[in-house]
Amino acid sequence: MRGRFAPSPTGEIHLGNVWTALLAWLQVRAAGGVMVLRIEDLDPGRSRSVYTDQLMSDMKWLGLDWDEGPDLGGQYGPYRQNERRELYQAALERLEASGLIYPCYCTRAALAASAPHAGDNERIYNGACRRQPVAAARQTSRRPALRLAVPPGPISFEDLHAGLVCQDIVREAGDFVVRRSDGVHAYQLAVVVDDAAMNITHVLRGFDLLSSTPRQLLLYRLLELPAPAFTHVPLLVDTNGVRLSKRQQALSIAALRANGTRAETIVGYLAFKAGLLDRFLEVKACELISGFTVEKIPRDQIV
Ligand code: GLU
Repeated sequence: MRGRFAPSPTGEIHLGNVWTALLAWLQVRAAGGVMVLRIEDLDPGRSRSVYTDQLMSDMKWLGLDWDEGPDLGGQYGPYRQNERRELYQAALERLEASGLIYPCYCTRAALAASAPHAGDNERIYNGACRRQPVAAARQTSRRPALRLAVPPGPISFEDLHAGLVCQDIVREAGDFVVRRSDGVHAYQLAVVVDDAAMNITHVLRGFDLLSSTPRQLLLYRLLELPAPAFTHVPLLVDTNGVRLSKRQQALSIAALRANGTRAETIVGYLAFKAGLLDRFLEVKACELISGFTVEKIPRDQIV
């Protein structure tokens, strides 16, 4: 088994990130597998290397280690997407060679008028530039985004926690972006290229990414790459049912460390919430390995 934790360094990691990191780490460790840390820093406007450094320090402090990566003078660094752009470009060119990619000149305003996608902050693309490619290109001199012409038909898979998932991408996302107009490769493409290149066999991540998985499975199919098994776990939410985010500074690991919270308290609390302990007690992450199974994790969101 090979698993990974793939955070975006857009803020200090918080309890919600550690929740999925801990479960992904336990899934791999319980199977005696290999854990990979990959920093998803493709978006130059939002990623900061200080957050990567803090994240590595927080992960080690929590006892969540990883097993490979570039040599940083005696210890493994993480893989960084920022250094892997040629791989994403090569995959994009393979898709282009099969005639599945087209330029999209739609403005933000035009896109905002289309229907919102249920699962993420993208919109369901109405296919305007696919239907009228020449007219669209004439309208503007701006650099286009590149979209995948999604073939019709449902995509289904068996999630190891959420069960059978079936999605018609045409209806639920539409032709999706694989490279943004600023030249940055899209998450959907990069994550597939990387998980395949890193031989990831098991992806465990938050339920918020469940609706992206059919798009990723389509890319695996089109690029003829083997897809991993997926486990989507419920998200941590606050008492108002709102998922924890980087805006909740007080729940960042850096803030908890600074106020004297112990790593064992955080790990024990999350393990209790995950159904891995009958009652809350302080534990080290490594003490949870034996006896871990995905089945113990509750199905509903975790308050
Ligand atoms: N980088 C993504 C995030 O932080 C996670 C990607 C993934 O696990 O597939 O939300």
